[in-house]
Amino acid sequence: MFDLPPLDYELNAFEPYISEQTMDLHYNKHHRAYIDNLNKLISGTEMENMDLPEIIVTAFGDKRYVAIFNNAGQTYNHNIFWKSMKPNGGKEPKGELGEKIKRDFGSYDNFKQEFKKAAAAHFGSGWAWLVEKDGKLSIMTTANGDNPITKGYMPLVGLDVWEHAYYLDYQNRRGDFIDAFLNHLINLE
Ligand code: MN
Repeated sequence: MFDLPPLDYELNAFEPYISEQTMDLHYNKHHRAYIDNLNKLISGTEMENMDLPEIIVTAFGDKRYVAIFNNAGQTYNHNIFWKSMKPNGGKEPKGELGEKIKRDFGSYDNFKQEFKKAAAAHFGSGWAWLVEKDGKLSIMTTANGDNPITKGYMPLVGLDVWEHAYYLDYQNRRGDFIDAFLNHLINLE
């Protein structure tokens, strides 16, 4: 059985960039619904005692397990999303990650530009990710509940670009939401 992960901050911690109402609906309704659905779907199956990455990889591409894949992916993706933000985030990281970002994107500003471009261009519901594979960083997007681990990449940071993540606060202005994430919220520590 999976449960909502505790948050490291209050639901109003990201005001004015993400409203308390959006956080409450997103965490307590959307994320909880994915978890509740997943628990029902795996109950009594071979996946009941697997961890989330195992369920995702097992269900990926299998027509029998589309609903399990979608709900396990969204459970996992939101777990990462909540960790991808912090109050007073948006700072250039120091240390190893900061060095890797400079090495693989040229500069921190260039990383932000490339992340924004990918997140803004993603068509429809999905996610934008900073990922690592074989020690190299890159940016990717995935559709709906898919995520980088199905492609052999380790997600470091994930941004939810489903409309439920920003519509109450930004309506159709996804770019403004991405800017707020990158400039004020992203947690790269
Ligand atoms: Mn979401």
